[in-house]
Amino acid sequence: MIAIRALEEKIQSEGQVFAGNVLKVSSFLNQQIDTAFLLEMGKEIARLYEGSGVNKILTVEASGIAIAVAAAFYMGVPVVFAKKGDAKNLSSDRFCAEVRSFTKGTVNVISVDRAYIKKEDKLLLIDDFLADGNALKGLLNIAAEAGAEVVGAAIAIEKGFQKGGDAIRSEGVRVESLAIIDKMTDTEILFRPQD
Ligand code: 5GP
Repeated sequence: MIAIRALEEKIQSEGQVFAGNVLKVSSFLNQQIDTAFLLEMGKEIARLYEGSGVNKILTVEASGIAIAVAAAFYMGVPVVFAKKGDAKNLSSDRFCAEVRSFTKGTVNVISVDRAYIKKEDKLLLIDDFLADGNALKGLLNIAAEAGAEVVGAAIAIEKGFQKGGDAIRSEGVRVESLAIIDKMTDTEILFRPQD
């Protein structure tokens, strides 16, 4: 809970809202990284998924990697990150999914070498933001292709006014977000109360 309050305060004081519902948190998460704070967020994710049997974390490059590593450290598990790349460079040795980028509007193929996800794996999916849910759906598709179990997902900042969180929860996936923004304008950011 301390990490959640601190994250909300950091978003309030350092976050910048841009056109198209884009929140920039480049001062502590997306470009410069506040490492002590990152580790606190990772510790909170580890607490939320304690005892859940997760043996591996799956994220997507680039901005999911930092928080995934922080959580993985406290959970004592490895991190696998999906790479973004051109479909024609991908071999049959990879699990692939198409993902529309929220911030750029382009469609990327994300992929993971088949060596790094096995059907016995119990995965925790991690990303920095949840907006329309395309990145998370891409990771879910990769997990499904591998036949691995998805224990749940953990997100640093969910924009609750966008459709991704509801859509993915309604598919029965556990989604834990450290901060959920219900409303965001140039002048105010309102958070969903969490217990
Ligand atoms: P989604 O796929 O859920 O629509 O968007 C999530 C992905 O887009 C995340 O991987 C994140 O990198 C990026 N993203 C979505 N919304 C934002 C935002 O408001 N700010 C930043 N910095 N990244 C975002």
